[in-house]
Amino acid sequence: MNKIGIYYAYWTHEWDADFHPFVDKVADIGFDILEVNAGTIARMSAEERHRLKAHADERGLSLTYCVGLPHACDVASPDDSVRRKGIDYLIQMAKAVGEMGGGKIGGIIYSAWPANMPAGVSDKRPYLERSIASMKEAAKAAEDNRVLFNVEVVNRFEQYLLNTAAEAVAYVEAVGSPNVKILLDTFHLNIEEDFIGEALRKTGDKLGHFHIGENNRMPPGYGHIPWTEISAALRDIHYTGDVVMEPFVLPGGQVGSDIKVYRDLSVGLDLDEEARKALLFMRGVLK
Ligand code: MN
Repeated sequence: MNKIGIYYAYWTHEWDADFHPFVDKVADIGFDILEVNAGTIARMSAEERHRLKAHADERGLSLTYCVGLPHACDVASPDDSVRRKGIDYLIQMAKAVGEMGGGKIGGIIYSAWPANMPAGVSDKRPYLERSIASMKEAAKAAEDNRVLFNVEVVNRFEQYLLNTAAEAVAYVEAVGSPNVKILLDTFHLNIEEDFIGEALRKTGDKLGHFHIGENNRMPPGYGHIPWTEISAALRDIHYTGDVVMEPFVLPGGQVGSDIKVYRDLSVGLDLDEEARKALLFMRGVLK
């Protein structure tokens, strides 16, 4: 049985947040996992991290962690000092999560987010090569801290290096660490892949984490993502890992801006009730 979770930013306008209220809310709704922002975790004190982990444990909730690196920390950058800053940030996040018992850090951890291919560049290979070299170094911190780094495949409008599962498989093979795997997300798969089930099967045991969301980033159940095809493919590859929904419905703030929520998708909806319905829907899909 897959554990099912939700990303806190469904409810927020900003990426930084106090996660404690979300621990209670998400546990009350019935989720197994709360996914939080790894950058915020890295900036918290050791004592604050300890309190958050204790709270999650008390509520029987697992924590997973997600981040998109800022441009100043782009580990694919041609600028040595920017890459260094990015690698150090990944190491800092790995240590912070290690202090909380280890876990998964996923997202755009191989370059900046959101990011277009730099102007005048037509060949991304040098960017990929620098990213792979950076990730090899950061992977040592993941190995030392019981952390799994999962590179998230996202669509072309958000990043340019890893847009397909096949590109991510080649990337993690080049990195060559057991602590670096792949995060696939149904919202992005829907845009880039020819066949979603096939993309999952090709990723196979390199799938380290799974994000779910509809084509319109509504809670699962509101769009036309092929859930039956997805659950069959997850069964075929024996994926028993975590499945975290990432709905985004609120315009405004940095979250609305980065996710490009340009209209209020929450009109008439009670967010907590919709999360509860989506959880039940996914338990049905994944059973
Ligand atoms: Mn995602």
